[in-house]
Amino acid sequence: MPDSFKPLILCSVLTLTSVLLATPALAEGEVNIYSARKEDLIKPLLDDFSKQAGVTVNLVTGKEEALLQRLQSEGVNTPADLMLTTDAGRLAAAREVGVLQAVKSETLAARIPAAYRDPDGYWYGLSVRARPIIYARERVKPAELSTYDDLADPKWKGKVCVRSSDSVYNQSLVAGMISHHGEAKTEAWAKGLVANFARPPKGGDRDQIKAVAAGECDVTLANTYYLGGMVNSSDEAEKQAAAKVAVFWPDAKTAGVHVNISGAGVTANARNRDNAIKLLEFMAADAAQRWYAETNNEYPVNPAIAPSATLKAWGEFKADTLNVAKLGELNPAAVRLMDRAGWK
Ligand code: FE
Repeated sequence: MPDSFKPLILCSVLTLTSVLLATPALAEGEVNIYSARKEDLIKPLLDDFSKQAGVTVNLVTGKEEALLQRLQSEGVNTPADLMLTTDAGRLAAAREVGVLQAVKSETLAARIPAAYRDPDGYWYGLSVRARPIIYARERVKPAELSTYDDLADPKWKGKVCVRSSDSVYNQSLVAGMISHHGEAKTEAWAKGLVANFARPPKGGDRDQIKAVAAGECDVTLANTYYLGGMVNSSDEAEKQAAAKVAVFWPDAKTAGVHVNISGAGVTANARNRDNAIKLLEFMAADAAQRWYAETNNEYPVNPAIAPSATLKAWGEFKADTLNVAKLGELNPAAVRLMDRAGWK
């Protein structure tokens, strides 16, 4: 046979083999997860589910973008039934490229508020993270703070630290502002904010909090779980930095604090669809919600469950009720806007 035929035949044999090997597993009761959350943040939960439901759980962990690319390139041959990741922007992107499928479940609808799930059921939020203002206790009085908008006021010149516009967290925050205020007003805000930067954006959320503690700037925007991690850190320097800052919940009289989620969706080509839905429902139930939120220093998505003591200490806040799916929808507009505003 001509050489040029060989790769083609080899390919189809491999495909066939993987399908044949995978088929018997269907009857075994399993579910396969691609997770962008680290193993130690979810493994005990998955073990519990495994015990209770009698379903074998297989876990692959990796970086958000790499897992999404892997799902796309594997297509119908993917072993993954469930994709677990952070940020509604990423979940919306996964829906957009066609790697998720719609799931309807009364249990999920009852346990997860509508604002924290895709309106068509392509993904569901499993924990909530808030992105408030974090300020230096020594140099800022809470009475000086009010809204995200206010951080663009010249009174904060040289006092704002924030991470780069590459961060999906900032992109989602800006997407939320576009939804509430429109593009023109949000762009003017972004320009004002950039003009107030104490330094060019660098580092992650934790680095911004440390910069505030070190006196490099007075205010920043950061997801609460980073501060929670620092408060409970085994590293004494991190603990001390956390003690120098405090949380301010902005926009209490307007749209509320920008919130986002970690969440999961059943993959478009899931072979164990029912088990994937069962696992989602398990993760939204009381016990799992309590454990999952506490372990990640996040807020439970299920409103029946109280947050951890660390989070309670920062007080209650009004969360933005905008459906987080909107953050994904407006992500491209947010990215372009931040670029125009000179937000590096
Ligand atoms: Fe994060």
